[in-house]
Amino acid sequence: MKIRILGAGPAGLYFAALMKRLDPVHDIAIYERNPKDATWGFGVVFSDKALEFLRTDDDALYQYLSRHLENWPEITIVHNDTAIPVAGNGFASIGRLELLTLLYDYVEALGVKLHFETEVTALSQMGDADLYVGANGAFSWLRTENEANFETTTDWRSNRFIWYGTTKAFNSLTLTFRETGHGVFCAHHYRYRPDRSTFLVEVEEDTWQRVGFESMSAEETVRYCEKVFAKDLEGHPIISNHSYWRQFPVIWNERWSFDNVVLIGDALRTAHFSIGSGTRLAMEDAVALYKAFKNAGTTDITCALTEFQASRLPPMKKIWDAANTSIDWYEQMDKLVHDLTPVEFAYSYMTRTGRVSHADIKKRDPVLAQAYEKLHPEVALTVHG
Ligand SMILES: Cc1cc2nc3c(=O)[nH]c(=O)nc-3n(C[C@H](O)[C@H](O)[C@H](O)COP(=O)(O)OP(=O)(O)OC[C@H]3O[C@@H](n4cnc5c(N)ncnc54)[C@H](O)[C@@H]3O)c2cc1C
Repeated sequence: MKIRILGAGPAGLYFAALMKRLDPVHDIAIYERNPKDATWGFGVVFSDKALEFLRTDDDALYQYLSRHLENWPEITIVHNDTAIPVAGNGFASIGRLELLTLLYDYVEALGVKLHFETEVTALSQMGDADLYVGANGAFSWLRTENEANFETTTDWRSNRFIWYGTTKAFNSLTLTFRETGHGVFCAHHYRYRPDRSTFLVEVEEDTWQRVGFESMSAEETVRYCEKVFAKDLEGHPIISNHSYWRQFPVIWNERWSFDNVVLIGDALRTAHFSIGSGTRLAMEDAVALYKAFKNAGTTDITCALTEFQASRLPPMKKIWDAANTSIDWYEQMDKLVHDLTPVEFAYSYMTRTGRVSHADIKKRDPVLAQAYEKLHPEVALTVHG
């Protein structure tokens, strides 16, 4: 089978690896516009659950990657000056560049051809193929140019975020919320290598307007955020890497393929970064597409692509819905920080997607459950009664 993949992110790379492992005779090439050593962003996180699929489906790759992961057993929610550690929520992280480099080496060793610094603007540029895979991320031209075929919807969400790093090595995945005179600032921060952490700053749209970020230079923006989070950064600088304020597009497609063209990863759908599942979903798409070809065979492309959507939709939709509920929560963060006590706030955070019940909190972190029950005795009844 001749497969041409657009985009060397986690989705495209992992699909290439799986298909090559299925049959080394497959002729597989990936086209990537960036050079081999360039990427955006800092580290990405995986929840324990997010890594389970890899541990179960592909232990060899899991072992290969896990040596490079930073791990923590808990997360910390900081409500102004009160830190609430919440146990029972394992996370792991890795630099995005490091993850990609490991995957480049992995697929190249399998015999996949990687073409870097090749911007593809038409499928014909990649030559004839039995299958074209659009794995070119959230802003995929392949999707936008074929929106009628894919039945695409895009919902631009209102919060603003900027992806920074810092030299401070944080000891747990932490969500810090600080009230300022202009509104609440949230930082999602976590170490992804011994001397670096991701430091993503998020604010509600009104806060962003009140501060006047639109007319600030990149340097002024960094200095402003350093001041807001001075207590957390403890003198460490914020590091910018082509960082700029963005809004999150929630992307969905009713149809995932047409003819011999299929979308996977962020090109197919985006899931808000607050649930730490974008990379996991991208890699799970790759697994599902590979399994569809494994089951349906490689001669009937339409049949395999139909099976891909049918089998992948239910589990993926669950996580996508949770990610969207999480966005709703972040869009109300000013009110929540203001109205709730630190314990209530941490509890609200933990239960925000509706997928974690009071019984789950009791199991994971009895101390938090007890503190919350003191304030809201009625919840104890929902477990016992
Ligand atoms: C701020 C932020 C924080 C995030 N944090 C996390 C996190 O903590 N955990 C997590 O799991 N996920 C996180 N994500 C999401 C994660 O980065 C993506 O979900 C994941 O990378 C998707 O993988 P992908 O392979 O589908 O696409 P991408 O990783 O976007 O890869 C697409 C590739 O296609 C290439 N490309 C695009 N157009 C062309 C073209 N025309 N020609 C050639 N090449 C092209 C791009 O250069 C890119 O390398 C975050 C995302 C953002 C924006």
